[in-house]
Amino acid sequence: MAGRVLRRAAKSVAAGVLHYSGARKAMAAYRRSQSGGRRILIVSYHRVVSDFTGELQRSIPGLLISQETFRRHLEEAHAAGFELASIGDAVDVMAGRRTAKKDLFVVTFDDGYRDVYRYAYPVLKQMGVPAITYLPTAFIDTDKRFNHDRLFHLLRRVQERRFQPDFATMPGPSIQLLGPILTGHKTVSAALDDFIGEHPTRVLTGIIDGLEQQLGGGADLVPEQGDVMNWDEVRRMARDGFEFGAHTLGHTVLTQEPTAVVEHEIVESKRTIEREVGVQVKDFAYCNGWYSDEIIRILSQNGFRSGVTTEDLPNRVGGDPFTLKRKVMWENFSLGMMGDYSSALTVCQFDDCFGVLGMSHPVLGHRQHALSPATDTNQVVIQGLVVPAATLSKVTPVEVVQVTEPAFATDARVAVPVDSPQVVLASDAALATEAAQPEELQ
Ligand SMILES: [Zn+2]
Repeated sequence: MAGRVLRRAAKSVAAGVLHYSGARKAMAAYRRSQSGGRRILIVSYHRVVSDFTGELQRSIPGLLISQETFRRHLEEAHAAGFELASIGDAVDVMAGRRTAKKDLFVVTFDDGYRDVYRYAYPVLKQMGVPAITYLPTAFIDTDKRFNHDRLFHLLRRVQERRFQPDFATMPGPSIQLLGPILTGHKTVSAALDDFIGEHPTRVLTGIIDGLEQQLGGGADLVPEQGDVMNWDEVRRMARDGFEFGAHTLGHTVLTQEPTAVVEHEIVESKRTIEREVGVQVKDFAYCNGWYSDEIIRILSQNGFRSGVTTEDLPNRVGGDPFTLKRKVMWENFSLGMMGDYSSALTVCQFDDCFGVLGMSHPVLGHRQHALSPATDTNQVVIQGLVVPAATLSKVTPVEVVQVTEPAFATDARVAVPVDSPQVVLASDAALATEAAQPEELQ
């Protein structure tokens, strides 16, 4: 706890010093020259809420931002000299088809939460700021809730009731999720964050079903919050010029699925939006932020022009439009030492001061495509070899990824070209990596 407070204090103080000394501008200029002349900052939000403190009691923190802080983000971006641009503008500038007079700031939303329609849309419309929302289309116009929101809700009930689950009737890995929560070693959001990205959907739904049954069923086991837009709301936003991209049908982590499923999820989610809204869909967001060469191939063969990740790194002119880097934002990114809104901190986040200083650690989204049946949750893949996870001496779940391209070699955070497999903590980017370790990334 003391460490967290110190880290938050360190970032607050650093932000103030950088901001008022002018060093922040120098860092922005450094990033600009690294990016090929213009910075292209793509930010990702999930839920924009009217009452952040109230919502914090019942929702995954890393998905939330208050309407007021969201509005201030847009104002600060404008004041800091960014052009608030569309994803298409960003892709054109990166491809050299368009030159930008200013650095670009692109607003994106993942998952199509109804909060975005209620609280972000009016602000964007009033300020004339473009935005794109990525829709998992099988959820739109339904009262279904996402697995991550359902699990979070159930785990909080388990905690409140001091309930001891019977693991014998649940999927094997459930102990990895519930154990650290029951012993008080992890918060619910940290445990979920570590767990979700590492396990296929069937394990998550198995735990949800098991817990719902054991907790006795009932309406209060399904979260009220976390509802998604309906097609009328989507169409209303589209009529005002807001864009929509695909985010699979069922919020599916595609790197864990066979090619036929990947194709179906990509093509059908695109077609559904096009049919329902009457617009062309050319942009995609990877669930969990995870992608593979195979997924990119399928996207580019099916009329897409871009894919967004959750890799918190700079975009460069000439970079790959199917691995667009994004900064995942939430309320605490802008909270200073005393828990109040900090303008200096917000602008430092936009200008990537902490990245330049090596104070933040991006999680890379490139994964080996785990074709079924290699989705056994007790195994990991190292250079194509399937190894039982038990042989890896790590307590936390790890994902082994192959990093072959020295693409970020000039980045301060990855100073050395990497050509050997890297073991990285694979926290769940879809839940906002910050949810588990907010203090690290503030
Ligand atoms: Zn998502």
